[in-house]
Amino acid sequence: MAKSTNRYLDFFLKTYKVSSVNRASLNERSIVSFKGYQFFLYSTYLILIILIISFLITAYSPVKNLLPQNIVLKRGEIIDLMLRVDSLERDLNIKSQYIVAVNKVVLGEVLDSFVTISEDSGVVFENLNLAPSKEDSLLRNFVENEDFYNIPSSYTPSSLGLEDFVFFKPVDGLITSGFDVSEKHFGVDIVGSTNASVKATLDGVVIFSDWSISSGHTILIQHPNNIVSVYMHNSSITKNNNDLVKAGEVIGIVGNSGESSSGPHLHFELWQNGNPVNPLEYIDF
Ligand SMILES: [Zn+2]
Repeated sequence: MAKSTNRYLDFFLKTYKVSSVNRASLNERSIVSFKGYQFFLYSTYLILIILIISFLITAYSPVKNLLPQNIVLKRGEIIDLMLRVDSLERDLNIKSQYIVAVNKVVLGEVLDSFVTISEDSGVVFENLNLAPSKEDSLLRNFVENEDFYNIPSSYTPSSLGLEDFVFFKPVDGLITSGFDVSEKHFGVDIVGSTNASVKATLDGVVIFSDWSISSGHTILIQHPNNIVSVYMHNSSITKNNNDLVKAGEVIGIVGNSGESSSGPHLHFELWQNGNPVNPLEYIDF
């Protein structure tokens, strides 16, 4: 132990000399001489200075960007930035479209086109099943049939007779001429007060509203259960073709229009399934 300590002590305390020798003349020329501990100190200084210089170079000069760890960090940052720019660009697109749309709405223009914004890459189009579902097919079938016939396929004509309806008196007045098929008088003539209003006898749709030479101002109304009512010789009519009318609604004014009229009265007819019926059997005048 003491021996090795002495050896180290010797190393520090001995004097070393670096010299050059001329080979021809064998002249020796001393370059530098130092003691062991001096060599140790100088070496330590040198290493420290090298460490400090290399630290400064890597920390404060562009060389640091070349470090492998730094490059990985930079790549992550770049990807982050790219993603952010991408989402900002999409945001900007949406906003500018919104502004264009609002502008058009303000100016009263038509919004003619929309660019779909969402590009959901999560949707795999190959896996989409575009075949109509059973419910969809049933609905389509139902709607098509409904449109095709206009009257629903479930429609069944009801078998209500005229006696099941409550008819509204078309006009207040006296019956001057009754229903007589042999005289081809298919209705009743009712004389009412001057300018008495003519009313629809049931709910229905006006299928004819016009003037003719023989009948004057005439209205025909189609009612449920294939019932048609006819009102002739009016001085004026207040409903047009295809108008919906309610029972009791005024459709005209009693008059004397038409060649076959011989005084102010209403000629009123009631038909069902193409046959004239006697209104007096169903309506109390
Ligand atoms: Zn008549």
